[in-house]
Amino acid sequence: MPNTLFRNVCLLDLSREDGVSAPCDLRVRDGRIAEIGADLAVGSDEALIEGHGDLLMPGLINGHFHSSVNHMKGRLPGLPLEIFMLYECPELDILRPTPREAYLRTMLGCIEMLENGTTAVQDDCFFVPEPEPDIIDAVMQAYVDSGIRARVALDQPEVAELEKLPYLGDLVPPDLKAELSKRSGSTAEDLLALYDHLISKWHGQAAGRVQAAVSCSAPQRVTPEYFRSLDELSRKHDLPFYVHILETRLQRVFGNERLGGRSLVRYTADLGLLSERMNIIHAIWVDDDDLDLIAASGAQIAHNPNSNLRLGSGIMPFRAIRDRGIPICLGVDEAIADDAINMWSVMKTAGMIHSLTATDFAHWPQAKEVLEAATTGGGRAMRVAGLGTLETGAPADLILLSLDSLTFLPLNNLPRQLVHCENGRSVRLTMVAGEVVAKDGHALRIDRKAIMAEARSLFQSRSKALADASAAMDDRLAYYRQMYLQAMEQDVGMERRVPAFR
Ligand SMILES: [Zn+2]
Repeated sequence: MPNTLFRNVCLLDLSREDGVSAPCDLRVRDGRIAEIGADLAVGSDEALIEGHGDLLMPGLINGHFHSSVNHMKGRLPGLPLEIFMLYECPELDILRPTPREAYLRTMLGCIEMLENGTTAVQDDCFFVPEPEPDIIDAVMQAYVDSGIRARVALDQPEVAELEKLPYLGDLVPPDLKAELSKRSGSTAEDLLALYDHLISKWHGQAAGRVQAAVSCSAPQRVTPEYFRSLDELSRKHDLPFYVHILETRLQRVFGNERLGGRSLVRYTADLGLLSERMNIIHAIWVDDDDLDLIAASGAQIAHNPNSNLRLGSGIMPFRAIRDRGIPICLGVDEAIADDAINMWSVMKTAGMIHSLTATDFAHWPQAKEVLEAATTGGGRAMRVAGLGTLETGAPADLILLSLDSLTFLPLNNLPRQLVHCENGRSVRLTMVAGEVVAKDGHALRIDRKAIMAEARSLFQSRSKALADASAAMDDRLAYYRQMYLQAMEQDVGMERRVPAFR
């Protein structure tokens, strides 16, 4: 493990009014921040990185992501989630990847993240048509090889499509109803065996840089028994537990129709499964009771504002969540619903979208709150001690940004310019666990040019399969659309979308 001394750097310091420290030196040893001070001597076993007064800050943490669709940027127009998912991930055999395909698509995301200053990712990885050990291995190997820090879960529903959605069963013709009533290809037993594989083979690999997490996708997409088993697994190994909850209005309607009027948060709480390990993803259509339950449990919320706009899901109640002290992390969600894998753009949207939700501008997010969510908030969600901070002993997941770039010319207010002006172009260097893994916009650990050429040709050859899979879903569209419109007409006692203009 190389040791490093950063000389003459300014540190991001959100406790200060201007958000930045005086120039100093920072020592990295054994993958962690070892010492911060003035005029530190460079050790004989240390590489010297001259900072020239530039900004050293924690790497950004992509708190919620699905690498499974890294090759599908821009493939779909804006669509509501329920219709989007119909086309995004049909469980068709023609979409089954080879291990190499899974490796390459995962690596594309790693390259993009590392080069723009994202040092860690929580991958809620789903598998089409179902997870298999060699595909899981390919995904994990890409994370190991790339040098990024990753938590990876297997996001796989195990109930039938009709159990996940309201109304649809009454709308579809009998033959389609029979098809949509079939259980998913993977049983709870299969999935738990695959978790055994994931955890025993990969959890803690690359000196702890690559770890497992658990995921049920969403409460309505699994049986209560499997949901409980995952919680036990999460507790046993101290793993984050990823759960999409109340992303859409239709999911609020689901609670009214299927859960006796309980919300999916209340349903999860009634099962006793809300916990501080839980990452509640989206939390848009939540009410005060839901937020009180989440706050009491210690769970955190993963906010994905670009995806929420791309799919028209709605706006998360940022201030109500912050006021309750619920920690927030930020995420891209996925490369088919953002469609960049760029946390700077996520931060910018998070910094702006909530301005539409309150007349009193005192409630609008401050740049420092947004930066905190993308750094310490992500570290907390990942359950990695110190991650996202510059404290001594914290993992050395750091990015060095040129303060000479146009982003900071002139430097007026560092936190605001990081959130509203930066897009990744100022990132000079990306370090993960003490190792420089990207420099001057290039990932260093892999043959970037060869990987990109191979990926380009492979995904070109797969485009017909993607088009065929989409076409195979076309005859379902009318029913899904009807279901969606029916749900949108229901009064759910709250609004999270901008009302139609008048
Ligand atoms: Zn998601």
